[in-house]
Amino acid sequence: MAQRVPVSEACGPAASKRVSRVRVAVRLRPYMEKQDKKAEGPCVRGLGPQSLEIVNWRNATETLQYQFDAFHGEQASQQEIFLSSVKPVLPHVLSGQNASVFAYGPTGAGKTHTMLGNPEEPGLIPRAVREVFSLATERERESADWTYSVGMSYLEIYNEKVLDLLSPGSTDLPIREDKDRNIVVQGLTHMPIDSFSHFHALFAPASLNRTTASTKLNQRSSRSHAILLIKVVRSLKSPPYRQQMGKLYLVDLAGSEDNRRTGNQGLRLKESGAINLSLFTLSKVVDALNVGGAGRVPYRDSKLTRLLQDSLGGSAHSVMIANIAPEYKYYFDTFSALNFAAKSKLIVNRPFVREAVPSCAPTVPVKRPRDEQGPRAAS
Ligand code: ADP
Ligand code: MG
Repeated sequence: MAQRVPVSEACGPAASKRVSRVRVAVRLRPYMEKQDKKAEGPCVRGLGPQSLEIVNWRNATETLQYQFDAFHGEQASQQEIFLSSVKPVLPHVLSGQNASVFAYGPTGAGKTHTMLGNPEEPGLIPRAVREVFSLATERERESADWTYSVGMSYLEIYNEKVLDLLSPGSTDLPIREDKDRNIVVQGLTHMPIDSFSHFHALFAPASLNRTTASTKLNQRSSRSHAILLIKVVRSLKSPPYRQQMGKLYLVDLAGSEDNRRTGNQGLRLKESGAINLSLFTLSKVVDALNVGGAGRVPYRDSKLTRLLQDSLGGSAHSVMIANIAPEYKYYFDTFSALNFAAKSKLIVNRPFVREAVPSCAPTVPVKRPRDEQGPRAAS
């Protein structure tokens, strides 16, 4: 049954005006022969814990080298990604702060593998939920003053509509800002959960619903943003019975591929336009946060960014994992994802070679050109 947890959110994170950066990590999935019919081999490879290089399609004598907050190569385990990008933010959620973790990238590059994974290699979602419960137990053991309760909501943004995945058949739900500047989705199901297995029992069928719908509706799952919200409320057991709420968003974004190239028409094109609006706005928001300064952060320009407004930037802890694939057929989508994710980019004057380590060839530093940032908007 749907239930609301009454919470005093006055001390919520939206109170702070400080703008924080979004940490950007890139994950390269393993090369897959079946994705490379022409047997061209990979066009991307890792260089170090923060960098990679990709063939420069404009000039075969050059490679493009990119730097990020973190780079995870083909061998990286699910646990490694969890430890470096997600585990460090979870204690903040138990202390009443907000956080968000996104998987970005083209369809087929590993977003769902990263977020959900499989029983042998569970992804960030199951690992994060387990960790939230174990942190809550640990903290209750350490101090008898506070008690912790955990709840979940699960929603989808499809065609700029907000749909409740725990209440199939729901219509577009409105996003509002309450008097304490917390973002709330009106009418969204919120289920209290008391253990990981309780979470799993609710989450698995809802995820399955989404996947089943996808095969019927033009791979809907690659066209919608799946958003899991884990809320942690900590309450003081004695007067003044203070309560604090921390929100953790775990987001499997729609595919960032440029749908103009895949020849979508009609409904598909409309969907692509809407998807690109949210993703394009997300890229502008991340850019505005990471560049800093007094510029406006355009949260209100799409449903996704409006929903995440109190959990992305500000005093929130935000992590973007850009997933990329090494095969040539993904080249332009990879290129576009990297230009979005990169802290810096260098053109290196030497051909892409798989085995060699980069030499000290003359380099030309290139500031992120504006026209190459972010996914392209659909026309
Ligand atoms: P996306 O959600 O971005 O469309 P998927 O997560 O479905 O991509 O990944 C596409 C395919 O690649 C799936 O078969 C998935 O199991 C596999 N895959 C993705 N990332 C990895 C990885 N890091 N290791 C092994 N297989 C992976
Ligand atoms: Mg997917």
